[in-house]
Amino acid sequence: MHDDPLAIFLARSAFREAGAVITDLDGTALDEWEGRIRVHPEVEFGLKRLAELGRPVAINTLRFPLNVVRTFGRAWSSITDEPLPFVSLNGAQTGLLLPGPGDTVVFDELDAVPVTPAEVAEVLEGVEGLVAGGVEELLVFFYGRDWQLGERIWAPGEAGAEAARDRYRSASEVFHGPVEALRRRLAAEEVLMIFLLVSIPEDKRMAYQHARPSSFVTHRGVDKLDGARRLADRLGFSLPDSVGCGDTPMDAFLAGCGLAVQVGPQALEHKGVHATLRVPDPAGLGALLRRLSAEGGAS
Ligand SMILES: [Mg+2]
Repeated sequence: MHDDPLAIFLARSAFREAGAVITDLDGTALDEWEGRIRVHPEVEFGLKRLAELGRPVAINTLRFPLNVVRTFGRAWSSITDEPLPFVSLNGAQTGLLLPGPGDTVVFDELDAVPVTPAEVAEVLEGVEGLVAGGVEELLVFFYGRDWQLGERIWAPGEAGAEAARDRYRSASEVFHGPVEALRRRLAAEEVLMIFLLVSIPEDKRMAYQHARPSSFVTHRGVDKLDGARRLADRLGFSLPDSVGCGDTPMDAFLAGCGLAVQVGPQALEHKGVHATLRVPDPAGLGALLRRLSAEGGAS
């Protein structure tokens, strides 16, 4: 009992009154089944039980809202009749998943933190340097505040755009042209996250190390922890009394939660405020959530 992180967390926190369960999606709550990505049924079951106990259940993911709405919206909205709180784009946008017309699910924003013009300029400077250096294997993904616009991708050349169209089927639009065309597009709306995907040939890599080959750009200070804090403030639950579940270093929100549940083989630096534990996979997370719902109900 004294070595049991879940028991320690429940004894030291106000989870039963003020806590929520916040989970990452990929690698944490999702697995692959018959060639499709799904919410693991054990996780779905555990979250349903917790929602029935009155504990808010929230998602915290890098994925953009339209993607979640299209892929898992139905599964997630079946967990509870309540609106489902949702942190997207590495903390840049929070909102609720709500039932829409017919069988659909829609996203309703709570708040968003756009990147500043100076931050966009910095990204474009890097992009210009790469293009000038002859790096053609370069894609810029961007996500605006209007969630219905989804994912847009820019490539410097036509071949790159065609390959991206083929590869990233979830994109709403793939276009190509000079960096100036990208600049105009980024200036035309509130942009929440930019993702730079660069594949640099081995022999040129030294020269471009400063360009951080793969990086997600949000407004300074915005990450999954910041997003989780804003969501907790808005919805009135207490993050240090909550359970956070994630599988990679990007899941910084685990460090703000009372119990950090690390899923999978990677040992993470993010430790919970009261306790930390590790489960091997999404099925293991499901079993833990089931235990939490049995032991973490109102006393
Ligand atoms: Mg993950």
